[in-house]
Amino acid sequence: MNNILSQEQETFISKISMFSEQEVKTRSKDMDEQGYFDENLIRRLSEIGLLGATFPKEYGGLELDPLTYGYCTEEIGKSCSNTRALMTVHVSLVGETILRWGSQEQKNEWIPQMARGDKIGAFALSEENTGSNAKGIATTYIEKHNKFIINGEKKFISFGDIADFFIVIARNNQEITAFIIERDLEGISTEPIKGLLGSRGSHVSKIYFNNVVVPADRVLGLRGSGFTYIVNTALDHGRYSIAWGALGIAQASLEEMIKYASKREQFGKRIVENQLIQGMIGDAMTHIHAARALCIEAGLKRRNQDTDSIIHTSMAKYYSSKIAMEIATDAVQVHGGNGCYNTFPVERFFREAKILEIIEGTSQIQQQLIAQYGLKKYSPRKTLI
Ligand SMILES: Cc1cc2nc3c(=O)[nH]c(=O)nc-3n(C[C@H](O)[C@H](O)[C@H](O)COP(=O)(O)OP(=O)(O)OC[C@H]3O[C@@H](n4cnc5c(N)ncnc54)[C@H](O)[C@@H]3O)c2cc1C
Repeated sequence: MNNILSQEQETFISKISMFSEQEVKTRSKDMDEQGYFDENLIRRLSEIGLLGATFPKEYGGLELDPLTYGYCTEEIGKSCSNTRALMTVHVSLVGETILRWGSQEQKNEWIPQMARGDKIGAFALSEENTGSNAKGIATTYIEKHNKFIINGEKKFISFGDIADFFIVIARNNQEITAFIIERDLEGISTEPIKGLLGSRGSHVSKIYFNNVVVPADRVLGLRGSGFTYIVNTALDHGRYSIAWGALGIAQASLEEMIKYASKREQFGKRIVENQLIQGMIGDAMTHIHAARALCIEAGLKRRNQDTDSIIHTSMAKYYSSKIAMEIATDAVQVHGGNGCYNTFPVERFFREAKILEIIEGTSQIQQQLIAQYGLKKYSPRKTLI
């Protein structure tokens, strides 16, 4: 593969690649079309270790380093965006955030169960009127007799309909706090969101909280740290996962494009022989290599715990999702009418790629974050007088 991975890491990635091909790809079309996530696949993902991929071994995880995890996410993303989404939410957004900010008791309670797949976690931030401006959430909490009472509605929560628990972000006036909330508490109900462009097998839902009483030990991190620490950590981990997952869609789209163009004949020759078709293949090749370089750089910075890893992760997420959309669009173009037909996987790649430009911070939000960093780093220094 390359010299930044050890033989052991390469062997593991090959194992995941084979698993993805044999057990994930085979289910992806059905889960997308029928709108469900196969429970047997959850069991298989836990058996192979992916539900605790980055968790420390002491909690039953595989303790994968960021690069190996990234490559594995690409392999899964190539086959099925719903499965990649489960990894993004369960491992990256929820598990890694509890590991970073949870109390020892919370880690002991949740992480081993998550690694085994006994408990699935979801991340509940977005609401009807709050997306990009995440600080604007309206879900509230009040404290009463050393407990918290939560009221409000969350929207677009991936796996919200099947998760066993959620990280919920709520506010008390200006104070924003995160809570770990079990779904079976009284006053919680969920409603599946149908008619989505993509993520159709990810049980995306609304979640309603009606006077839900939450014990004090369910606060995640410090009270009031819900946005600065919890949301920012979760989104950083989520973006890293999305960057590699988008690369998976881009790579799969390229492979399908080449396969189809090499077989399909028009005007008495294979369409791949046309330079205009080769132009799309050349662009896809170049974009994929550039996106992979950004993902690797973000992975290396994360491995070295470099503070710049956050902005490099944003750049990787922004670029990978953008080129995944472009390449998936070209893959549909190369397939002509068949590209618009669900018998060919490029139709699904096209729909799934668009979602990745929107979740975990839209492309415009990434552009702003990257620009703010660039302005700070490269603006000419003011002359002191
Ligand atoms: C399939 C799917 C799964 C999801 N899963 C989850 C989940 O598990 N948990 C969760 O909490 N949320 C989830 N979401 C919600 C997702 O995070 C939000 O949709 C996303 O953050 C964008 O918010 P919004 O939809 O409210 O768009 P808005 O914030 O209303 O943005 C609309 C448009 O305006 C642009 N815009 C907004 N502000 C600015 C600005 N300042 N400058 C320039 N442009 C701007 C945006 O880029 C976008 O193009 C999911 C969404 C989808 C579609």
